[in-house]
Amino acid sequence: MDHDLAPALARWKVRTLFPYQEQVIRRILGDDHSRLAVILPTGSGKSLCFQIPAEFLPHPTLVIYPLRSLTADQKRRCDQAGVGTVTLQGGQTRAQRHEIWSQLGSGTVKLLLSNPETLEQPAVLARLKAIPLSHAVVDEAHCIHLWGTRFRPSYQRLGALLGELGVPRITAFTATATEQNAQSWRAALFRGEDFTILRASADRPNLDFSQEPYLSLRRSLPRTILREERPALVFCRSREQVRRWAHHLHRETALDVRFYHAGLSRAEKTRIEAWFFESSDGVLVTTNAYGLGVDKSNIRTVLHLEAPPGPEDYLQEAGRAGRDGRRARVVLFVKSRPHPEPAECRRRALLAWFGEPEGPCSGCDVCRGQDRSPPLDAGPAVTRLAAFVHRLNQREVKAFLMGRVTPTLWESDLPRLPGWGLWQQESDLTAGELWKGLLDGGWVRFHSRGPWKGLLAPGSTPRQR
Ligand SMILES: [Zn+2]
Repeated sequence: MDHDLAPALARWKVRTLFPYQEQVIRRILGDDHSRLAVILPTGSGKSLCFQIPAEFLPHPTLVIYPLRSLTADQKRRCDQAGVGTVTLQGGQTRAQRHEIWSQLGSGTVKLLLSNPETLEQPAVLARLKAIPLSHAVVDEAHCIHLWGTRFRPSYQRLGALLGELGVPRITAFTATATEQNAQSWRAALFRGEDFTILRASADRPNLDFSQEPYLSLRRSLPRTILREERPALVFCRSREQVRRWAHHLHRETALDVRFYHAGLSRAEKTRIEAWFFESSDGVLVTTNAYGLGVDKSNIRTVLHLEAPPGPEDYLQEAGRAGRDGRRARVVLFVKSRPHPEPAECRRRALLAWFGEPEGPCSGCDVCRGQDRSPPLDAGPAVTRLAAFVHRLNQREVKAFLMGRVTPTLWESDLPRLPGWGLWQQESDLTAGELWKGLLDGGWVRFHSRGPWKGLLAPGSTPRQR
């Protein structure tokens, strides 16, 4: 895209655009006679598709709403973003109207919000004809076929009205419309002209979603990186984590690992962006700062060390994988639990949030029957251990897993049981994390009261999966 969108995105407090938002914005800005019908699910950032172009177009964008509440809501958001916006609607005084016309004449207005009935008033129409407009947007465009002929006939005359005003670009937005509905806009809105329907799902079928349960990230992350295809992006939530994990990954895997966050200097960022852009095997550990305006198409894996704040963030960050349309994997690390919630299709769970109807899943661990838990057999090993001995304390169970000999273990035949020395290869630090993961997840429990206090609780460890 020729326009630098970053300042506009910052104004609207968004970090990055969905591919379909970019596509709509590019169409509007790239074609000065664009005719678009855009069908986007609710909550998918529809307003940005006209708010952002409005900042770049030479004249105001007219946005037509069916309801006052929607107009007021849009006005509030525009004011918060500091984008010049005026509302033209019924019930305004002469003084208010005078103020609106003078603002429109001053060239500071980017968005003009109104409704079909007000725009049709002869006095309004006459004044508006003298004001050049760059773009007309009909939001909630399903009103055209829903209300057009009887309840609000003005909607049927919108095309003629916009023709009179000489608006070059016209875009209709709605959350739901069948092909037939959209075609009915041809006469009512586009005056018989051809138009393009952009129907965007939030889904990216080439992405495969899965969750990776872990006891210790120190252990699981390097293994996962080595297992998955690269280039890979690893998302962390803080700058400190980014540095720490990049260092750890580099040490454990010997791969080309670098890190990126908003605190780096412009020169460092540019250097790392250029390196990753060219890389076919690299690993970039980053905060959500990476991605704005970057179009690296061959990222094969996106890993999240923890879930981002909301589904939009998750989908946007996941969406950096596989822009070339080839298969790519999105993996979310989650703490290992012996009794996880019954798993639902990862894709369906995500898309349901955007109000999308249930469709077929093009790939996730649950639908493949591969959701993995536990990540390593320490849980079952302890279960077996608990079935044989009831008099081990925490230190001894840990020593058993690490293959170390304590006096109790020395006198027993425990080293012959399966699971002995399971963590022999692990560093103390990693073994400590694994142990904490077992305790936190409830994989291992100890009697907390009574004569067996502090000892391994037989049968309390979870069933083996
Ligand atoms: Zn699925």
